[in-house]
Amino acid sequence: MIEHDTDYSEIREEVRKLCARFPGAYWRDLDRARGYPTEFVNALTEAGYLSVLIPEEYGGSGLKLSAAAAILETIQATGCNGSACHAQVYMMGTILRHGSAAMKETYLPHIASGKLRLQAFGVTEPTSGTDTTALRTTARRDGDDFVVNGQKVWTSRAEHSDLMLLLARTTPREQTHKKTEGLSTFLVDMRRAAGRGLTIKPIRTMMNHNSCEVFFDNLRVPAENLVGEEGRGFRYILDGMNAERLLIAAECIGDGMWFTEKSVAYAKERRVFGRPIGQNQGISFPIARGYAQLQAARLMVREGCQRYESGENAGEQANMAKLLAADASWACAEACVQTHGGFGFAEEYDIERKYRETRLYQVAPISTNLILSYVAEHVLGLPRSY
Ligand SMILES: Cc1cc2nc3c(=O)[nH]c(=O)nc-3n(C[C@H](O)[C@H](O)[C@H](O)COP(=O)(O)OP(=O)(O)OC[C@H]3O[C@@H](n4cnc5c(N)ncnc54)[C@H](O)[C@@H]3O)c2cc1C
Repeated sequence: MIEHDTDYSEIREEVRKLCARFPGAYWRDLDRARGYPTEFVNALTEAGYLSVLIPEEYGGSGLKLSAAAAILETIQATGCNGSACHAQVYMMGTILRHGSAAMKETYLPHIASGKLRLQAFGVTEPTSGTDTTALRTTARRDGDDFVVNGQKVWTSRAEHSDLMLLLARTTPREQTHKKTEGLSTFLVDMRRAAGRGLTIKPIRTMMNHNSCEVFFDNLRVPAENLVGEEGRGFRYILDGMNAERLLIAAECIGDGMWFTEKSVAYAKERRVFGRPIGQNQGISFPIARGYAQLQAARLMVREGCQRYESGENAGEQANMAKLLAADASWACAEACVQTHGGFGFAEEYDIERKYRETRLYQVAPISTNLILSYVAEHVLGLPRSY
């Protein structure tokens, strides 16, 4: 009934087959234990799906962003959850674009093979929140090292990553012309750092997301692990955000497809007052509306990916795709719970789990309000609000 995007249909078919090995019961058990889906992540790694954006010369398959979007969308559409490893797909872009030749040669082949996991992104801090440039973690040069002190929060997958991309202040704010200057990006080897100034504390959240607090206490990071130039780290992090937003939007579309398929199947099958509940427009219209929103968001993801792939600025499309896709998946989630009545709340239907998981994307990796601010200011030319 519902046609999935025909782009990359063979990859999508293979991803679907792989995901079929990880049914709802697998995710429910992990959700209860707040466990990490190691077998699932290993399967995706071995099949090469997490290294599609790494160029062939470094051992990846060098595919386009839209291929990665198709993979992540399909994972979500099958009921699996790619959030345990989606960052492995796109975080290496910062090294690819801004790392030295030596850094690329040292790390990218191992990230491509999955020997090294680069999926911890240390940006958000407890006191700065969305105001990234107000972050307080510092990195001070000392001989051949930088010495890092401070704290991050919501660093997802920190316990399941070998490397972390860290944003820290290397020049005090008052000594810079602009607040966006004086921030630097580091590739932190978390295996070497554990117990030597790096402490990780998991945060229990409403869904299973393996997010953590990370504390730095005089952690020494070799100067060769500075990515690109000192002081330009904020720009490097921003550079990676359009790809991230488009890929998260693709995941939201996958979630929305999953909810919609569940809703349609149940609305046809469940009979109340002697007829299928889907015959009531109070049930069918929200499902139809969510589906329409989903398809519109899908077009925006596609346009954003096309612009990104052709080297054009995709900021407007990437932000709007994330906004529209997160809204669409949430509308589909609402319709799905309502369609299922009481059973929408029963764990064994997986709906309540997916409902909790998809809610995140109104807040992270960027909140809906901040996207609206971006569109208002940078697209429509309205006065800056903050
Ligand atoms: C499960 C989870 C995983 C995450 N993973 C990571 C990760 O791996 N790495 C990482 O660095 N971060 C991560 N984050 C952090 C995430 O990016 C932030 O939570 C998000 O950007 C919002 O920041 P905040 O929580 O500090 O909210 P705040 O900045 O405190 O904002 C709170 C609310 O106020 C609104 N608000 C703030 N300022 C304005 C304004 N000027 N105009 C309008 N509204 C405004 C926001 O939209 C939000 O709704 C994760 C968060 C969660 C919950």
